[in-house]
Amino acid sequence: MPVTAHELKRRLARFPRTRLAYLPTPLEPCPRMSAAIGGVDILIKRDDMTGLAFGGNKARQLEFVFGEVLASGADIVVAGAYTQSNWCRQITAAARKHGLDVALVLGHGVKGPALQGNLLLDRLMGAEVVVLDALDEELQPYLEAKAAALLGAGRKPFLISSFETVTQSLAALGYVEAVLEIAEQLAAQGRSLDYLYVAGSEMSPAGLNVGVRALGLPTRVVSVSPIVYPEPRAVEIARIATATAERLGLGMTFDPRDIEVDDGYIGEAYGMVSPGGREAMALLAGMEGIILDPVYTSKGMSGLIDHVRKGVIPPGKTAVFVHTGGLPALFAYADDLGLSPPSRGFAALP
Ligand SMILES: *Cc1c(COP(=O)(O)O)cnc(C)c1O
Repeated sequence: MPVTAHELKRRLARFPRTRLAYLPTPLEPCPRMSAAIGGVDILIKRDDMTGLAFGGNKARQLEFVFGEVLASGADIVVAGAYTQSNWCRQITAAARKHGLDVALVLGHGVKGPALQGNLLLDRLMGAEVVVLDALDEELQPYLEAKAAALLGAGRKPFLISSFETVTQSLAALGYVEAVLEIAEQLAAQGRSLDYLYVAGSEMSPAGLNVGVRALGLPTRVVSVSPIVYPEPRAVEIARIATATAERLGLGMTFDPRDIEVDDGYIGEAYGMVSPGGREAMALLAGMEGIILDPVYTSKGMSGLIDHVRKGVIPPGKTAVFVHTGGLPALFAYADDLGLSPPSRGFAALP
């Protein structure tokens, strides 16, 4: 059974939380791009503007995660992902803001230890960083070893693992709340939320699915995958969504068939710029002055654009794209965007 917006807010308010994001983020219409691709009214939920060291979706998620980190009395946070991880950059910012130290164990990834983008920001904020030649999903034992070593040295570490349901379902609460924000913003403009697109693979689509179903909205949530996984993503998203709904006492379970995932826009690989992503970046930048990131939002938007062009979304509908951020990584990808440097001209003065 759906609950009212008031009731959902009341349940979200029960969780320990720390303020990290500027909320609500703007919901920005994209009239020129919408007209150019045809018929569907596209708006962008600007979660790239959440603040917290260049913004992004993790700021919303970490408000709930840091509620627990701070309650634990930890003095250092341990986390890991790839070197251009937005998750680790925003964890570092959240921790430093609360006076905690940070130890990051990072996988090499596509961009390696180049001091650019997110890795540069991690170092600037004072995180201790080690880069391993390992995949993201192989990091857990190294993270546990790091936390154990810190404990042995008399520190109070908190390991934030993005692979554990306890953390994932807490983080997803941020995107349950985002649905409340979007629905209110659209209602104020007299529009309904027909489609909700996100370039997500875990917490963001899980939270959006829970929020939409909790409020009984007729919205279709479409998750455009940035990453290929061995197991269909809908299984993981449904699992996190069920755990999130349980935290909120909603009495709902999610089946993988309830979760809409499109894996068709990843391109060559996770972390590599795709041709569709390049086109989406150029379109948004050139028509709306909105910048997408090369790893997530450009691919998500390329999926949305393609769905509009193919008529998967019928003309006349409203689609909200959640801009999940990731912008610092853009600068680490300068050479992959297909842009040539300007010519060195010498203008003749009149
Ligand atoms: C982490 C991240 C995502 C994916 O978010 P999930 O909550 O894991 O689905 C999408 N976009 C950007 C820019 C991110 O940093």
